[in-house]
Amino acid sequence: MITDCHIHIQPLEMFKPHALELIKKKRANFDQIAEFSRSPKAFLKHLDAAGIDRAALINYVAPDVIGFTNGVNQFISDYVKEDPKRLLSCGSLHPRHTTNIESDVEQLLRLNIRMIKIHPPHQLLYPNDYLNGVKELEIIYRAAEANGIPVMFHTGTSVFPGARNKYGDPIYVDDVAVDFPKLRILLAHGGRPLWMHTAFFLVRRHPNVYLDISGIPPKTLLKYFPRLEEIASKTLFGTDWPGPGVPEIAQNLAEFRALPISEASQQTILSGTALEIWPE
Ligand SMILES: [Zn+2]
Repeated sequence: MITDCHIHIQPLEMFKPHALELIKKKRANFDQIAEFSRSPKAFLKHLDAAGIDRAALINYVAPDVIGFTNGVNQFISDYVKEDPKRLLSCGSLHPRHTTNIESDVEQLLRLNIRMIKIHPPHQLLYPNDYLNGVKELEIIYRAAEANGIPVMFHTGTSVFPGARNKYGDPIYVDDVAVDFPKLRILLAHGGRPLWMHTAFFLVRRHPNVYLDISGIPPKTLLKYFPRLEEIASKTLFGTDWPGPGVPEIAQNLAEFRALPISEASQQTILSGTALEIWPE
């Protein structure tokens, strides 16, 4: 049971023109991406061909930088109905784009969202801003913690126009891990390419912090994380497809498989860790 914990299936019509341009420019097969965002059936076939059993489908609310509103939650909740065992919905909220955070959180729970994404460089906030008066963040984390819903943070840089990269430093997740000890936290991209040491430290330091290797070219993964096998039981395979510069899913998987790490560690990263987080 191989899980890709980080694939972007998003409502393309919400993208701001400059963000969509960047994706179109970097991908030859944009029509295919558009088809997959409309048709879960077509996308499931693509996953079959790539050898992927399950995929977490990442969405987040970032009206200012990318264009996504919290309409993404209804979108992804409808999308995964095609096969909820294989398609895991990831939704989001934005503390500054909500009129009633409690009712928005309730909607996420009603939609049976399987993960919440916070994207600091695109949402223009620090993960620990609840310590600076952004109470909405605390409400989101509390609800996720109480309902066993993991929270994924984008860590590392972003090349999208308008992204602010100071927010990508994973060190600000340290407070969240301390203050919400039962909350499962995924560090997307392991702080790539500036903060891998911080990400590695946080994964080892906190029982509730996990590493999502998506967006890191598999060929450079061991250069970035030479001690990856030590944290295999807390590491998840992911691709970040179809993000700018990310190779095709099947190629990504093949390159990961070719890495000189033990078969047991590979199995854990491809399958075991994700099964612990989402047993079904
Ligand atoms: Zn991503």
